[in-house]
This record gives sequence, C-alpha cells and structure tokens, in this order.
Amino acid sequence: MTPLPQPMRELFIKLRNGVLDFLFPPRCVHCRAEGAFLCLPCLRGLKVSPSLLHHPPAPTALSGLMYVFKYRANPALKAAIYQFKYRFNTEMATLFAALLLKKITRSSFFTSSSPILIPVPLHRRRLAWRGFNQAEALSCALQRLAGIPVIHGLQRVKATEQQAMLSRSQRLKNLKNSFIVLPALLSLSRDTSLFLVDDVYTTGTTLNECARALRKTGFKNVHGLVIAKT
Ligand SMILES: [Zn+2]
Repeated sequence: MTPLPQPMRELFIKLRNGVLDFLFPPRCVHCRAEGAFLCLPCLRGLKVSPSLLHHPPAPTALSGLMYVFKYRANPALKAAIYQFKYRFNTEMATLFAALLLKKITRSSFFTSSSPILIPVPLHRRRLAWRGFNQAEALSCALQRLAGIPVIHGLQRVKATEQQAMLSRSQRLKNLKNSFIVLPALLSLSRDTSLFLVDDVYTTGTTLNECARALRKTGFKNVHGLVIAKT
C-alpha cells in the first residue's frame, strides 16, 4: 500500500481529530486538565536544558547533537511526546518547534550555516500504519515558523523490528544500511550543514545510521536536532 502524500494525510487526520476533539475536548496529557494537550502550568513546569553537544555520546557519525530537554527530568514531556508520536497533532508540532527554536536559534552555529532540515523517515509500511511521521511534522513546523528549508532526503529501505527490546549492538546490526540518500540531496554542496530531525535521542542508533548514509555520499556536517535526549 502506498502512503498518501503528507498534505493529504495531514488533512485526513486533522478532520478525524477535529471530530474527536468535538466529541472529547482535549485534556492535558500530564495533569488531565481540560482545554489543551499540554496545559500552561505543565508547559511552564518543563525543565529546559538546551545543549549543543559537539561530541554526542557513543561513537557516532554525527558531528553534533542539539536538544532542548532531558527526557527523564520531565514526566510531562514524556507523555506529550508519546501523544505526539501516535496521534497527529499540528498544535503539538508547532509547540515543540517553537520551544526548539527559542533555544537553538541562539546558537551561532545554527544561524550562520544556512542549515537544511532532514526528517528521519519511517519505513513506508510503518508510515501507512501510523498515518504520519512525527519527525516530518516537527521539521515542517520548524520550516513554517522559521523558514528553515526541509528536504526529504532520506528513505528507509529496511523495515526494522521494534528497537526497544534490543541491546545496543543488536540495534546497530538491525539498522545497518536501512537508509538511502535520495537525489534531492545530492545536488547540494557537501559543506552544507544538515540537521537530522527526530523527536527523541535514545541510544542514537537511528540518527547514527542516517548520518552514516549521508557521510558515505560526502556530507561532512551532519547534526542531530531533537526535542529531548534520554
Ligand atoms: Zn497539565
């Protein structure tokens, strides 16, 4: 089954969510207060720890990693990201993008290097099943808010098993050669700063595999850009 193009999927899910929101008004994912997916007090309670790591943990093909939150310090964020992953929500994509931008645009590196955003892709079967890709939604929100260009430059060619139950070495093996670089990226200068966008950095194996694929085609500056790091 071929997934619908992103705008059509978004429209379809928006309509569905619109009906659901009418029947069941949104509640805060953390404290269950009615009115918003993440209420203002819970939002203000998030502990921000923005970082630009020039040397991400573990051996990696990434040149750096940018994140705004530590996952474990923020139970409300955990619930919000879970919602974001499994239920398409433009509001939440915009919220996360705004939080990211507030922090990262202060980094001179990010502003001076005319970055390109590349969402970490899902395999088409997973995409068809889930209906949307949260990394894509986040990238598009960043583009909408700050005009940073998004290029869908990677394709996931291997449908990998669930990563959660695997050890780090099993994850690496599982993901090997899962991504290919699409022609949309190949015309770019290899000095372009690429930012791989995803929701959470856990062990980093997915971002690392994406970065490896990009490096193989000659790109030298490949960073990770995520909402939170575990
Ligand atoms: Zn709340």
